[in-house]
Amino acid sequence: MMGIPQLTAQQIAQLSGFVSQYITAKRDKFLGQCVPLTQEQRTAMDGFFSPHLLDGVRVVNLNPLRVSNPSFYSMLAEMGFRNLPDFSQMAAITFSDVVVSHVPFTNGLLFHELVHVEQYRQLRIPRFSELYVQGFLIGGGYNSIPLEVHAYALGARFEANPRQRFSVADEVANWIRRCRY
Ligand SMILES: [Zn+2]
Repeated sequence: MMGIPQLTAQQIAQLSGFVSQYITAKRDKFLGQCVPLTQEQRTAMDGFFSPHLLDGVRVVNLNPLRVSNPSFYSMLAEMGFRNLPDFSQMAAITFSDVVVSHVPFTNGLLFHELVHVEQYRQLRIPRFSELYVQGFLIGGGYNSIPLEVHAYALGARFEANPRQRFSVADEVANWIRRCRY
């Protein structure tokens, strides 16, 4: 595949470890600047996510600052990677229970990121990182990472009918059980 070098199992494990460390470091870095959801956001998300998740999640709008890409990106570029996800250009990024946005939150954007919070909650950071890396390598890019595909699909379902509640926790558990990530 163009721009995606073949990696050994050992290299994949190492890369997953780097991603896991990056996520943990960013989560800790931004936590202090974060705030809980507003009552309005909370009301819009109620019924889709557990009260526990909605109470615990923290958000920050960084604008005009940007999240920096991982320092190991330069190493990956040298290895021949060409289409790495550019975090600095994304609308928002979720680091476990901390959502960092570059733009004002719409409910659709927030929903997508909260799906990731639920994925992290069930998988924990190391396994989420491993599946994210594997999904990228197997699918050949950001758009085919199953963790993203699922978040976009559930987000589209929410946006099509924001009052039709469904349990994101059940949807995520179902994908884990069926090894779809
Ligand atoms: Zn996403």
